[in-house]
Amino acid sequence: MAAHTHHAHGDPAAWTDHAARTLAEHGTRSGGARRAVVATLADQDCCASAQEIHERLRAAGRPVGIASVYRSLDLLHGLGLVTRVETGDGVARYEPALPGGEHHHHLVCVRCGGVEAFEDDALERAIHAVGDRVDFDVTAHDVALRGRCRACRAA
Ligand SMILES: [Zn+2]
Ligand SMILES: [Zn+2]
Repeated sequence: MAAHTHHAHGDPAAWTDHAARTLAEHGTRSGGARRAVVATLADQDCCASAQEIHERLRAAGRPVGIASVYRSLDLLHGLGLVTRVETGDGVARYEPALPGGEHHHHLVCVRCGGVEAFEDDALERAIHAVGDRVDFDVTAHDVALRGRCRACRAA
């Protein structure tokens, strides 16, 4: 993984609080599995699959069944608390959706499957300029650039 900029995800503690509040507002008990999944998501710089989250929890000594991880991610996604990242390999990956809209986009290597984050202010401005031009109120967007990462080009 390349170095990621941390501000893309803002303050992880703020997102964790926001997630706990939203879950409580929806009458959802913040169970142990759900809390563990939220904590793992808050701790990562970019997206992770259910399997990766499951493995991270096990490595951290907090085993959570894969079915519970999937259920938690579905719930969080339904409440708009996580963004689902489609990288084209059929595996859904998830990352915190910050209430302030701070976000990043992804570079997907078609050879090794690696996913890296990037940000670009000019791209953000261009997307909003397109929205203005086509008279469309853009409230969200996904951008994934596919290609070959540096390591795969060197190999
Ligand atoms: Zn990401
Ligand atoms: Zn963007």
